[in-house]
Amino acid sequence: MCCDLKRRFLLLYATQKGQAKAIAEEIWQQAGAHGLEADIHCMSEMDKYNLETEKDPVVIVISTTGTGDPPDTARKFVRKIRDTTLPPDHFAHLQYGLLGLGDSEYTFFCNGGKTVDRRLQELGAQHFYDTGLADDCVGLELVVDPWIDGLWLALKEAFLLQKEKEGMSSDVDAVSSSLSADPHIVHELNLSSEVQNLKLEDGGVRSSGVLTQKLVDISLVASTGDTEPSLVHSVPPVSQSALNIPALPPEYIEVQFQDIHGENPHLSSLISEGTTFEVPVTKAVQLTREDAIKTALLLELDIADTVFDYQPGDAFCVICPNNVNEVEELLHILGLSEKGDYLVCVKVKQGTKKKGATRPQHIPERGTLKFILTWCLEIRAVPKKAFLRALVECTSDGREKRRLQELCSRQGSSDYTRFIREPNVCLLDLLHAFPSCKPSLNLLIEHLPKLQARSYSVSSSNLHQPGKLWFVFNVVEFPACPTRAVSRKGVCTGWLAELVAPLLHPNKNTLDGRGGSPSTEKISIFARPNNTFHLPADPSVPFVMVGPGTGISPFIGFLQHRQRLRKEHTDWEFGETWLFFGCRHQDRDYLFKQLRCFLENGTLTHLKVCFSRDSSTAEVAPPKYVQDVIRLYAKEVARILLKEGGYFYVCGDKKHMADGVSDAVVDIISMEMEVDKLEAMKILATLREAKRYLQDVWS
Ligand code: FAD
Repeated sequence: MCCDLKRRFLLLYATQKGQAKAIAEEIWQQAGAHGLEADIHCMSEMDKYNLETEKDPVVIVISTTGTGDPPDTARKFVRKIRDTTLPPDHFAHLQYGLLGLGDSEYTFFCNGGKTVDRRLQELGAQHFYDTGLADDCVGLELVVDPWIDGLWLALKEAFLLQKEKEGMSSDVDAVSSSLSADPHIVHELNLSSEVQNLKLEDGGVRSSGVLTQKLVDISLVASTGDTEPSLVHSVPPVSQSALNIPALPPEYIEVQFQDIHGENPHLSSLISEGTTFEVPVTKAVQLTREDAIKTALLLELDIADTVFDYQPGDAFCVICPNNVNEVEELLHILGLSEKGDYLVCVKVKQGTKKKGATRPQHIPERGTLKFILTWCLEIRAVPKKAFLRALVECTSDGREKRRLQELCSRQGSSDYTRFIREPNVCLLDLLHAFPSCKPSLNLLIEHLPKLQARSYSVSSSNLHQPGKLWFVFNVVEFPACPTRAVSRKGVCTGWLAELVAPLLHPNKNTLDGRGGSPSTEKISIFARPNNTFHLPADPSVPFVMVGPGTGISPFIGFLQHRQRLRKEHTDWEFGETWLFFGCRHQDRDYLFKQLRCFLENGTLTHLKVCFSRDSSTAEVAPPKYVQDVIRLYAKEVARILLKEGGYFYVCGDKKHMADGVSDAVVDIISMEMEVDKLEAMKILATLREAKRYLQDVWS
């Protein structure tokens, strides 16, 4: 009994989009195969665990959200451990291992995990295993998989140490014998839950009768390039190796179809983040010319009849459905076309082996099949390896089965990255490529994450135009490629673009008048306030705004707000304002030519614009990107930031722009203060800390 207790560890996860939860569940599952028991809880369930009295090792998996914040589910926990009255030995009894998840394209990489890690250390807790920081930018699995592999040996050592401390050497033997000290053996144990010498069982190609045109395209790719691997085709060594594949996740959901009509739940019941508002779209304007590379739209929402409120700089979320054709296609492939309007009762499967199984919160207990596929499940999500593993069981063709096994195996790890993760393959792409794979609805509910609402920055001021909210977005486009037979649009932006198409009249689109005919279309939104990306509280403080492309969006709100304040408070002192904007072509995608008005009425002191793709006949080529222009104004930027206590705001593309801008600012600081680059970076870090260098960036 005592020995059993000592094989327990506490497993906490804090998740925003479900990844930390899925990884924690993977650890929980593997623990079973090691004869260990993981007591798994979401960090927010603070009544179910108590770190103050916890004696067993603690494993924490935690993601990062926003600009380096811990996920919402960790907020209470973080607040608790941040209590400054806690003594430095508060957690001296605690041993823990932490796995942080993040994205290195954001400035505060894995900050959620780092914050918790740092604070636990400050409070005396000890690492029994090195912290892992996994990067979604290159593939979480690159760190997650080896981190989990190493966890078992580290846990074993933690148990041994714990027992030694307690002088219970007899139990040590028991634990010791269950887990080999040899890391390689542990490694094998880890995977031996389902190590299979998987060979091609059925080398025959499937009858092509069932293949659609799209599928023929995909299989052609495979057959013409026999020496080249693809999504459906592998080459040695992967094609010839024995495979280590993950354990089959236990099924835990049961669905029952009812051929009766019933009400679907209201969308707001699926949202845990706050109150939702259904608001009409009153205007839609295409800000780009037809020949621009990307299409940018501005939508106006009427929020006058709601209590929805915002400040310039805030973001909000749009609840969006999946593409209706993709839902129909999925129903067809699943053989459920006839049942789209049936009510589905979703329950936890009786006798499931999944510990603590519950119906996912984003799935209603009763809703029509179409409702679940349209509003609840992110059908575009990149399938995780555990999902691939489960799909193997629903695939009848031997070759397809083997390839799916390869893609979720350790040996096929780089194929997974190359053919699934990097090209963002979704479930439909997989089902096209592997036509004998026929998953059940319950599997989809178990493995597809929640369909997330999409965030947008507000592009207006409630002071300037009360009761209205503007936002601006690019319609995301994914072209067809060898793994995706058809081109697709972004889930939310594609839907919005279609929804407002009748409102768009290319020749009449202006920001002042109504863009086309009045609309009755409504969308559901909820608030996502930004705590820091706001105008300086003191209007006399100068500030710099950098917002190329749709990154200009919140600054339109800033400027509208400022314009109104200047009109209302003629006796106030207002600091100087700079705006750096960039786009590809002056004629095609200069989103807000009206910026000149702000300049003319004095709201904006300096407007600096660059065009990255316009050719120039000038002797000295003009700067292409905002960071290049910022460098030209080094002295002014340094004066505002370093001498006048000003603010610096950056908004837009995180991948290509935000780092370029911060590099430019580091160089400016280094040059103007005559310090080396490292010192300049430290100064920038203090500006960030003081919330005077602020970023609102997205991919
Ligand atoms: P999705 O379908 O979600 O696809 C978008 C991303 O998913 C792509 O960038 C890519 O990384 C990946 N992806 C998915 N499928 C594929 C595929 N098949 N091939 C390749 N890649 C794929 N956006 C704006 O335009 N304006 C804003 O003001 C704005 N403000 C934001 C504020 C915040 C705080 C945040 C977090 C984001 C903001 N965004 C903004 C981004 C916005 O939330 C959405 O991510 C964006 O509009 C795309 O949504 P979507 O559903 O159309 O695309």
